[in-house]
Amino acid sequence: MSEKKGRVILIGAGPGDKGLITVKGLEYLKKADVVVYDRLVSKDVLSLSPETAEFINVGKVMNHHNIPQPEINEILLNKALEGKTVVRLKGGDPFVFGRGGEELELLTIHNIEYEIVPGITSAISALAYAGIPVTHRDFASSIHFVTGHAKDGLVENIDFKALAASKGTILFYMGVSTLSQLINGLIMAGIDKNTPCAAVENGTRYNMRTLISTVENMVSDAEKFQLKSPAVIAVGKVCSLSDKFAWFSKSKIFSKQIIVTRPVVSNNILTDRLKNAGAEVIDYPCIKINEIENNKSLLNLTANLDKYNMLIFASKNSAAYFFKSLAENKKDSRALSHLLIGALGKSTYDELKKYGIYADIMPEKYTFTAFASSLKKAEIKGNIAVLEAANDKRLSDELKNHGFNVAPFIAYDIEYLPLDYIKPLQEYIDNGVIAAFTSSAAVHGFVHGNKIEDLSKIKAVCIGKLTYETALGYKMQAYMAEKPTIDSLIEKLKELE
Ligand code: SAH
Repeated sequence: MSEKKGRVILIGAGPGDKGLITVKGLEYLKKADVVVYDRLVSKDVLSLSPETAEFINVGKVMNHHNIPQPEINEILLNKALEGKTVVRLKGGDPFVFGRGGEELELLTIHNIEYEIVPGITSAISALAYAGIPVTHRDFASSIHFVTGHAKDGLVENIDFKALAASKGTILFYMGVSTLSQLINGLIMAGIDKNTPCAAVENGTRYNMRTLISTVENMVSDAEKFQLKSPAVIAVGKVCSLSDKFAWFSKSKIFSKQIIVTRPVVSNNILTDRLKNAGAEVIDYPCIKINEIENNKSLLNLTANLDKYNMLIFASKNSAAYFFKSLAENKKDSRALSHLLIGALGKSTYDELKKYGIYADIMPEKYTFTAFASSLKKAEIKGNIAVLEAANDKRLSDELKNHGFNVAPFIAYDIEYLPLDYIKPLQEYIDNGVIAAFTSSAAVHGFVHGNKIEDLSKIKAVCIGKLTYETALGYKMQAYMAEKPTIDSLIEKLKELE
């Protein structure tokens, strides 16, 4: 056993939307050696943990029983005794019907250090996403948190009389299977049958559903609606405000199924933006940029730069690998002083700036033909070296077709990866999925990484002309963002049905 004693941090993971974990919770989660979580913790929140952490799912149903509480307590204790930083992630807030208190008992006995990071409880946040303010000066001046959990099939210890008389907002957790008992309890206690009711299922998530009803009709409406757990059931006048304020489900992106393609290594702004707007995002790292070991093509170029008049970089990666090779040959940017430089695309231009190079030619329009036209306009003559990916020679081919004296060089290799997700890609396609593409390499990755015969059902939303043309080339239903920006891409995604 380790000398160092570990510690346990009990963190409220919030209701599902990963933006709803607290800043402190996230900071601690990122330092976890072990993450002990249960069913209500969303995958999105879990994905914020360090990849190296040990994950223990204690929400798994084993032989129709959850892992018993004492066993969970033991796991926390033992991992802490091993000297680990143990994060215990719980849905919502750890102390709101979360048994957080029970988990601290054993740790206290064994003198294990612990901290609690409260979380955003699901009832309040699910209602907020459904456009229901839990209190409102005109409608409710108290909130009542109630568990609808049944012991031996019956809800116990609920003071329905007090609840009915309160005229406040009543929030039932774990009340889906006992709904009729809860509503009948309130009716028997004399609540006005016209009191508005709501049920919010999977609150704050892309698959959130909201049912608005009245006390009188709630049970039959919930049956028709096929209400499922996890859901919060709310009773009170505030529920009538949902129609007016339901901002989340009114987002044009809400519940849309969107495959976001990207290189393996890349930050995922688009994914986060779409998730925040309520989309079901299928994150698909479809291309992997591989360095070519002992790259003869690049070595050949860097040793013979004097034979060329111009260097053209077809991508940001081609620039990065070129300068790496140059440095390996103990040369720097000065070796390029006699050369004109061309960059395809703004990100390539920006990459070159990192090496102190301001490209001479970078056409505004990001197409191969536009590039050829700019070279013609600038009356470029002589030998041109083009740096591109091993499996994408479109730029050098286009320039050759326009009669330029072009020598292609391979800067790196692109590997195409299949979709590795909950369901096979074909199922998403049959479902009319939308795919978002921020590069034509990603379109190739999507096509070559999977064996899909008919691509015509895919709605491909593309960031620029080249990407758009690549998608069209594969006979996808292609759409192009007005401008080559993430904002514009999102606007286009909103337009699609
Ligand atoms: N500690 C949690 C509650 C755990 S009890 C919290 O503070 O939220 C489990 C109950 O929480 C579920 O039965 C359901 O009523 C509610 N719940 C949890 N996540 C939810 C969600 N995303 N949407 C609606 N209800 C949710």
